[in-house]
Amino acid sequence: MEIRENFLLYNQPFVGDEEINELIDTVKSGWFTMGPKTLEFEKQIAEYVGVKHIISLNSCTAGLHLSLIVLGIREGDEVIVSPYTFAASANTIVHVGAKPVFVDIEEDSFNIDTSKIEAAITPRTKAIMVVHYAGQAADLDRIKQIADKYNLKIIEDAAHAIGSEFAGKKIGSSGNLTSYSFYATKNMTTGEGGAIATNDDSIAERLRILRLHGISKDAWKRYGKGGSWFYEIAECGWKYNMTDLQASIGIPQLKKLDCFIKKRIEYGRILNKELSPIPGIKIPIEKPGRNHVYHIYPILLESYPRDKFIEEMAKKNIGTSVHFIPLHLHPFYQKRFGYKEGDFPVAEKIFKQEVSLPLYPKMSIDDVNYVVEAVKDILK
Ligand SMILES: *Cc1c(COP(=O)(O)O)cnc(C)c1O
Repeated sequence: MEIRENFLLYNQPFVGDEEINELIDTVKSGWFTMGPKTLEFEKQIAEYVGVKHIISLNSCTAGLHLSLIVLGIREGDEVIVSPYTFAASANTIVHVGAKPVFVDIEEDSFNIDTSKIEAAITPRTKAIMVVHYAGQAADLDRIKQIADKYNLKIIEDAAHAIGSEFAGKKIGSSGNLTSYSFYATKNMTTGEGGAIATNDDSIAERLRILRLHGISKDAWKRYGKGGSWFYEIAECGWKYNMTDLQASIGIPQLKKLDCFIKKRIEYGRILNKELSPIPGIKIPIEKPGRNHVYHIYPILLESYPRDKFIEEMAKKNIGTSVHFIPLHLHPFYQKRFGYKEGDFPVAEKIFKQEVSLPLYPKMSIDDVNYVVEAVKDILK
């Protein structure tokens, strides 16, 4: 096959004049930090998701951390989570002094295997953190049944899953504390950023206080007209707020989100169709009743060595990635909690075979076809 000239990046955000103009407007206004645009952005996300409150933050990591704090999870507690995720999911559990208790994943969706959750529950278990891998919802019905039975809280890590659905409802509208990421590589971006969704008025109010040092409500207004110099520290919070500079990028991105998702699904299905006949490849599955938003396009290589495949793709000028190195294989988690290789065989098997192909709305159909051609050429 003929090798393309320029390198096809693994991922790239899709921004246009709308983001640039909104950003210029904000810079000209002179109000850079949390202010009117951040509030507008929050209102629009809440409408999009169908949830009462959105509390914007500087990351999804901050969202997971504050979710654990407001649910009262602390030293000595345990939180159940998939090991097949990014550092942030389990690191935040460690930040509050609790132990991440990993539960292996399903072979088909790479989400937590709900049939293995109950065996991991102890008297110290306080919550289940649900990661919606690649933008396909985990089985929230089954997880809720288990959580109700054992009186556990649910926290959703929806870093991949804004706009995704479970049983016809958007992820984040369920009433569970749900965190989104607007990091540069995610389905919509503010550069760095995140938000928590909740339907609970008092939790929302506490989150708004905790994201800004724990100082009294609306402290961000104190430099504006009608703002007061007076504030009180209600509790010891964090510096986790979003800024108007970030919201300026986020507002137009949110307007485009459904378009982005449509494109991702379209490209994802083209890849599914073209790659599924190739022997030795397992393509992603779409489970019924969910709206998989294809944040990641993971394939499994059942006979070809994964690392060699990545090198061959790079030779053909295509960027790829791996999602994820299971958390229990990382030195910190082994040293601190005694996890070891062999503990979660499904996650390990998937990790050894997994490679993520580029899939994002900024790609052209020619880019998608080129990826197909390259994969076919390598595996022929
Ligand atoms: C990206 C990611 C996060 C962290 O998001 P930030 O906004 O960078 O903090 C958390 N969980 C998962 C599964 C992610 O992929």
